Amino acid sequence: MSFQVFGIPVSRGVAIGRAVLVASSRVDVEHYFIDPAGIDAEIRRALRARDEVAREFEALKQDLPGDAPHELAALLDVHLMLLHDEALLGATRQWIVERHYNAEWALSAQLEVLARQFDEMEDDYLRERKADLEQVVERILSALAAQQGRKGGGAAAVVQRDFAGEDPLLLVAADIAPADMMQFKRSVFHGFITDIGGKTSHTAIVARSMDIPAVVGTREASRLIRQDDWVIIDGDAGAVIVNPSPIVLEEYRFRQRQSELERARLARLRHTPAVTLDGERVELHANIELPADALAAVEAGATGVGLFRSEFLFMNRGGELPSEEEQFEAYKAAVEAMRGMPVTIRTVDVGADKPLDRLSASELRHEHVLNPAMGLRAIRWSLAEPSMFRQQLRAIYRASAFGKLRLLIPMVAHLNEIRQIQEAIKRVQQQLTDAGQAYTPVELGVMIEIPAAAVMLPLLLRHVDFVSIGTNDLIQYTLAIDRADESVAHLYDPWHPAVLQLIASSIAQARAAGKSVSVCGEMAGDAAFTDLLLAMGLRNFSMHPSQIPSVKQRILRADSSRLAMALPAVLASEDPEKAAELVLVSAQRTHH
Ligand code: PEP
Ligand code: MG
Repeated sequence: MSFQVFGIPVSRGVAIGRAVLVASSRVDVEHYFIDPAGIDAEIRRALRARDEVAREFEALKQDLPGDAPHELAALLDVHLMLLHDEALLGATRQWIVERHYNAEWALSAQLEVLARQFDEMEDDYLRERKADLEQVVERILSALAAQQGRKGGGAAAVVQRDFAGEDPLLLVAADIAPADMMQFKRSVFHGFITDIGGKTSHTAIVARSMDIPAVVGTREASRLIRQDDWVIIDGDAGAVIVNPSPIVLEEYRFRQRQSELERARLARLRHTPAVTLDGERVELHANIELPADALAAVEAGATGVGLFRSEFLFMNRGGELPSEEEQFEAYKAAVEAMRGMPVTIRTVDVGADKPLDRLSASELRHEHVLNPAMGLRAIRWSLAEPSMFRQQLRAIYRASAFGKLRLLIPMVAHLNEIRQIQEAIKRVQQQLTDAGQAYTPVELGVMIEIPAAAVMLPLLLRHVDFVSIGTNDLIQYTLAIDRADESVAHLYDPWHPAVLQLIASSIAQARAAGKSVSVCGEMAGDAAFTDLLLAMGLRNFSMHPSQIPSVKQRILRADSSRLAMALPAVLASEDPEKAAELVLVSAQRTHH
């Protein structure tokens, strides 16, 4: 039966493929295709892991003390029975043979299928056996991980490619933490669907940086969609069409081809400088998460990195922090990859919906912190952990010897924070000088993401070299809307007059003070806001590399002085979005 689910569009384009349901707790299971020649070996891996676990259970049963409760032996019997049930390993084998999934992926895919069958059972006792099944699978997954460890990382044999003729795969999950999203970068998936999340939640941002269609905040997609269903993701409309009719499928295939052609056309603008019709040059910088992303930035024609979200170096490490050396190597790699173009490294911005470890944002919200978005995050965390902060500063300063580096501080709200940062910088410079380590002067900038910072900008500007407006958080804090909460996502409005006032005045004040100003929030990469930001006087945009071509096209067609003249009418309007459509579009049109 065909049906649709609606959510929030976060990454453009159309993806058509088969659903792969992944339980949120298991998204960190490795997902890769094996080489067809390795099918038998992969099945043997799965069976070997199963046998190991069976031996463990048998041994436990043998060693049960005589006075152990009877239920314990019965439980082990249930686990043994599940282990040997064809419905688990037999079907896992099918996923390996037919789909070339690695053993871990095949096993967790089968778990999803069986878990649903358990969920639908009438009998309470049987329904509760799902937990047993999950425990059994967990044990087999650990045994598989141990095998990999013994072999010294079997993932080296990973085939990170699609097989010709294989159906594309779309990931469906209730939630994916940003740290887990990172593992899906360059993965086998062609699109994402999640139940929770908002347009600028960090999971959405990573999906966008992967440049694949995604829809979040669907509330129940992971419950309604079944493993292997055919699914269309309409990343423009935020719609998910499940088991589409042949006519609908054909229409979307047509749209997919059209958007590929459009992309290819835009890609030709790569080496064209971004200059408006009236000769204003605009810098288009890239937002990156890892040094390796710098390559995509250069390829997309970025003229620098406007935001390196360094916190992603801190994730997926089981709570351990990256060493100074490791950070230094990462920053140096990014600077070198950009070949002399500026690289803006933002100090670690963890907290809120970017926890360090695998805890999802909602777990964090409920279990650990009262209100993480307003808690000890970003620079507040850095200043609370001074030696961690100085370590990061040292790594950044050392990398400055290899190219043009800029230092950007997230979530600044108090002048006192800037003073503390400057003191930490002085101390780090002295340490490096004493150690005979080279560094060059590094410009210091702050992010404008808390309304207080925007309101007191003239004072902040006296102490910094540049500012970057983080519209994602600025909107969140101005409108008191959690950016990751789909239940208030309809109120998260970049066109809100208060938001526009703060952005416009920040740009104007920075320019008046002769300091450089950029926007690095998601608004910068959305071509629907390009005219508006140009009208406000913005000449430096930072966005995902994949968004650069469409924004550049808009700039090439813009007349910045006409746009600027139309701006007051937009800012004075009660419906700025409509006003922008009228006055900004006509400002462009009169010129042609
Ligand atoms: C922002 O808040 O706009 C921003 C760019 O930072 P992040 O999205 O990482 O919070
Ligand atoms: Mg932010």
